[in-house]
Amino acid sequence: MQKMIERIAGDAEGTVYEFPVFRFEGKDRAAPSGYLQAALHAGELPGVVAIDALMPMLAKAEAEGRIRGPLTIVPWANPIGRAQYHFGEHQGRFNLGTRTNFNRSFPLLAAPDAKLLPDVSLGGADRRLKNRLVQLSLGQDIVLDLHCDDEGLAYLYIHTSLWPHMADCAAAMGAEAVLLWNEDNTGTFEGAAIMPYQNVPASVARFDRRVVTTVEYRGMLDVHGALAASDAEGLYRLLVTRGVVEDSSVPKFEKFSGPVVPLENIDMMPSPRAGAILYDVKPGDRVKKGDRLATIVHAPCEAGGRTEVFAPQSGFILTRRSRRIIRAGEDLLKLAGDGRSSDARSGTLED
Ligand SMILES: [Zn+2]
Repeated sequence: MQKMIERIAGDAEGTVYEFPVFRFEGKDRAAPSGYLQAALHAGELPGVVAIDALMPMLAKAEAEGRIRGPLTIVPWANPIGRAQYHFGEHQGRFNLGTRTNFNRSFPLLAAPDAKLLPDVSLGGADRRLKNRLVQLSLGQDIVLDLHCDDEGLAYLYIHTSLWPHMADCAAAMGAEAVLLWNEDNTGTFEGAAIMPYQNVPASVARFDRRVVTTVEYRGMLDVHGALAASDAEGLYRLLVTRGVVEDSSVPKFEKFSGPVVPLENIDMMPSPRAGAILYDVKPGDRVKKGDRLATIVHAPCEAGGRTEVFAPQSGFILTRRSRRIIRAGEDLLKLAGDGRSSDARSGTLED
């Protein structure tokens, strides 16, 4: 295993961002290759600690000559966001200088060819970082982008072109739900990893062996040793199942039997009022149409100071907010509906 330091020039003289990249060479050029990154949203840490727990397993496999395909690992992919604090509070989701979400505005290339990347020498440090992450991941058979939600289940975003081929991966990782998407108009990292393969010959696209997913490892606070260890085992099982690592001791696992939900079925549930949220439901709960999801206390101590929010359709709760203060129009939770949402915003990746 080799450790390399990537350097991204900052936007002011004297500022340079650095992040480490770990590479396992692999012994078989024909074996599938893998790329894992975490904390593109720099404060989302369940994936960081899962990768940290995975490394000794990979080191052992390497020592025993069991790493088949090349493997690239970026445990903290966003040094710009990692360093951003605003009045003492960490800000890892948006670039404070440009208000751009770190997981948007990636270049969506027409083909998997790094020569098509835009010139970003004057584009800003976050665009240089995005170009570099695309360069590191482009052409890899397996690309995993590890995130987390506010509070949520462990779930995967997967492009429809890769489903159901990737059902084995969902099972290996222990995902509790899969969200299928079609369109990326915003340039997520996942979009940058899969869209270049949509209009190329099947022999290049290789959807049967390609793996691309945004992994949502539950919530922001789900960062502890036991989960990190079990998520590391899930990542390891995926790498073994897809032939990057050899390990005959990994036991067989059950087929994926969790819900597979098209993105247009997700109801985001905007809050009708600003106030304090009293939730009636938590991630994983099954709800029926008309069930109360939450009460917003918008005018405490006053008659009529509470507003209730009800389920627009039956389904299950995928995520909810981690903080209990909300403004009108902000999303209360994600309800994975049994049918199509009537909310016009559903259908976009929201990671
Ligand atoms: Zn994220």
